[in-house]
Amino acid sequence: MPIIFEILFEFCSRWVLFSLFGAQMPIIKVGRMAGQFAKPRSDPFEEKDGVKLPSYRGDNINADPFDEKSRTPDPQRLIRAYLQSVGTLNLLRAFATGGYAAMQRVTQWNLDFVEHSEQGDRYMELARRVDEALGFMAAAGLTVDHPVMNTTEFWTSHECLHLPYEEALTREDSTTGLYYDCSAHMLWVGERTRQLDGAHVEFLRGVSNPLGIKVSDKMDPKELVKLCEILNPQNRPGRLTIITRMGADNMRIKLPHLIRAVRQAGLIVTWVSDPMHGNTIKAPCGLKTRPFDSIRAELRAFFDVHDQEGSYPGGVHLEMTGQNVTECVGGSKTITFDDLNSRYHTHCDPRLNASQSLELAFAISERLRKKRLRAGAGILGGHNTGSVA
Ligand code: PEP
Repeated sequence: MPIIFEILFEFCSRWVLFSLFGAQMPIIKVGRMAGQFAKPRSDPFEEKDGVKLPSYRGDNINADPFDEKSRTPDPQRLIRAYLQSVGTLNLLRAFATGGYAAMQRVTQWNLDFVEHSEQGDRYMELARRVDEALGFMAAAGLTVDHPVMNTTEFWTSHECLHLPYEEALTREDSTTGLYYDCSAHMLWVGERTRQLDGAHVEFLRGVSNPLGIKVSDKMDPKELVKLCEILNPQNRPGRLTIITRMGADNMRIKLPHLIRAVRQAGLIVTWVSDPMHGNTIKAPCGLKTRPFDSIRAELRAFFDVHDQEGSYPGGVHLEMTGQNVTECVGGSKTITFDDLNSRYHTHCDPRLNASQSLELAFAISERLRKKRLRAGAGILGGHNTGSVA
């Protein structure tokens, strides 16, 4: 089950352990980090009070402040983005293998972010159960210092948007002769760059990395099949992940048709839900936000449709942080429109805060656990359109 997210490592380990223990199934951790600085824009220009300037296109191109100097593209930014990605990857490597991910640390993690809250109490209860399980294993002579207990695998991913940057980081593997875009393990083609005859698809077709395809309600089932055939002509398992982002209502109507078309074509894909990008709204104060209830509703729709179609919900793609920000409205520690200004730290898209992320982790792991129990009882029938785990 791949899970993609944008967060600090410690919070990520916590979130995943949580889902792992709750759902009782293996999880592949993919962070949308160490590479995505470019931002796809629907409008190339922005206009304010009669002044028209190029849109902010991400930190590797220009800057966010609304003035001519900031919005002028600066190629030096690409070098800085590269160096920052290298630094982030090194840190990830150190954290993943340096004992930071040890399961024994589960109760030592700093819980300031959700202290005295329902999510914090639930987390501590789960941490206590993990601790007990580890204690039992040790007492029974089962080793708890196995690498699986102390290290973790962590992969990176971003949208393959800025082609000159991606091309510059593409290398031929001398042992296989295959090409890999080494800017990330997994790359995806975005909702705005997935044209069948477009440059992004042409580039991605030529590299051997695992690929994602972002899909909104505008995707036609036949076009999706065609795109999958272009990007994975040999139908290799694990090559393609379809990341749906269309809002709950559209999901219930559209997703069944996409699943059926992919199945009828005999294609092997992993289905992932991105409940963030189809649920962005403008708050009355002008800030971009995402309602927690809409995010949760889209995830619910994703699981419901896969249940109904007998296919497999393979993962979730979230934007979240371990900090107590106020960027998405709602959640059990309710953030209102009026709260947004108090800790709105993102320059990019609104992220779930720690408490909202844990609330989702509970909901997802409970849903997966139920699915697993039903499958164990022989209730889950049907066809699995493909999952990597
Ligand atoms: C994103 O994931 O950052 C993004 C812009 O997604 P989409 O292409 O689905 O809008």
